[in-house]
Amino acid sequence: MRKQLRPRQVQALNELRASLGSGKKRLILKAPTGFGKTVLAAEIIHRALERGKKVLFVVDAISLVDQTARSFYEQGITDIGVIQADHEMTKPGAAVQVCSQATLARRRFLPEADLIMIDEVHVFYKFYQKWMERWDAIPFIGLSATPYTTGLGKHFQQLICTATTQELIDEGDLCDFRVFAPAQPDLSKVKVIAGDYNEAELALVMNNADLVAGIVETWKAKAEGLPTLVYAVDRAHARAIQAEFDKACIKFEYIDAFTEREDREVIKKQFHNGEVAGVVSVGCLTKGIDWDVRCIVLARPTKSDMLYQQIIGRGLRNAPGKEYVLILDHSSTTLRLGFVTEVDERHGALSMGKKGQSVREIKEPQSKECSQCHFVKPPKTWECPNCGHKPERQPDVVHIAGQLEELTKTRKRNNKSSTAVDKAFFLGECLTYALKRGRAEGWAKHLYRAKYGVWPNKITPFMRTPTAETLTYITAQAIRYAKGKANAKV
Ligand SMILES: [Zn+2]
Repeated sequence: MRKQLRPRQVQALNELRASLGSGKKRLILKAPTGFGKTVLAAEIIHRALERGKKVLFVVDAISLVDQTARSFYEQGITDIGVIQADHEMTKPGAAVQVCSQATLARRRFLPEADLIMIDEVHVFYKFYQKWMERWDAIPFIGLSATPYTTGLGKHFQQLICTATTQELIDEGDLCDFRVFAPAQPDLSKVKVIAGDYNEAELALVMNNADLVAGIVETWKAKAEGLPTLVYAVDRAHARAIQAEFDKACIKFEYIDAFTEREDREVIKKQFHNGEVAGVVSVGCLTKGIDWDVRCIVLARPTKSDMLYQQIIGRGLRNAPGKEYVLILDHSSTTLRLGFVTEVDERHGALSMGKKGQSVREIKEPQSKECSQCHFVKPPKTWECPNCGHKPERQPDVVHIAGQLEELTKTRKRNNKSSTAVDKAFFLGECLTYALKRGRAEGWAKHLYRAKYGVWPNKITPFMRTPTAETLTYITAQAIRYAKGKANAKV
């Protein structure tokens, strides 16, 4: 059955058609998990078929060929074949061909097609480039939930964003999430290679008896009874976590890239009928699975927006009786990269290969952890939505002192990267505040000096209402000043 499209999907297809119509032939459709990417792909194929075109659909792994072909078939695309040695669905004349990239990479010629669709295009293989150059008249449409790969913008002309994760949560297509950050491992000495932590060094930090015990403790306190996926650094780490659960008489299964497909099916059944409390895995189980996951344990720190969003995406699927997915973050990833919904905002355009060129810099984490229950509060939240804890007067100062530390970090960075415009804004904000509150001009200048270490002698202020960040800074400074005065009296 050809499925009815939702308004957002129609909008995405219109945009796609307009771009193709304007002569663009290299396009990427970004569709978050849960958007109904296969429905969208099926609709594109339907429309191409109606115009007598042939379509080649490329999937990332041989294991995805069958389920993709089946899902297209279920959506009314019946003239469909598979390109793969000895496959029972081999049908050279069919208008739609499904093929894995591995099979394709071995061929010398492109199968006959008027439109090529590449699924999971964030994994960009070299031979794609060769083919895209050689068959330059044929449109290539890439699909991905996370098209953040460095340099992807060199191969594609346009990114069409169909919806953000936040929009899908707001509209009820995805479920909400709640994050607790019970542990913040010290990763300061772990090397970063190609944008993410070195795995061996990461394993040394994370595969530590206390941290592993903490995972089980927290899970028992917060997630007992919720079908859980645990993401570990490497196999030894995953096994250690599994053994720790075992010690507490809680049964977790284990999956890695070498787990046979039949075994995975068995584990999936056990997961859903409650025979096992959850599954520990390493890096795999990030795509192509549609399990009813109610809790995700992040034990693998990452700096990769892609991996982070893929992992959390496993938990955002709606299911009957599911209000939200519980995220127990032992990796400080949330505090480092922000909530999963903040990731989309950083990738409004394709990466051109140079760092920071099209990807907006990661802002200081906006989300703060509740000192009482470790719930990660949304930005600018004072009262903890989880436990109702309101940081009180005394702890407040301590808490703000903690914030001050962060502000100090920001300040150091700001000193290097702050432009004259930033400085003019800040000074203008402080002066505006001073005017409204009847403070002296000198008071504002003191704030400027506290932030930048020099007097604002050559700065022409840009008068404007203080941003939330500046207000926080002003408050923190005021408290620090008051505290210093109180101490002086004693
Ligand atoms: Zn709390």
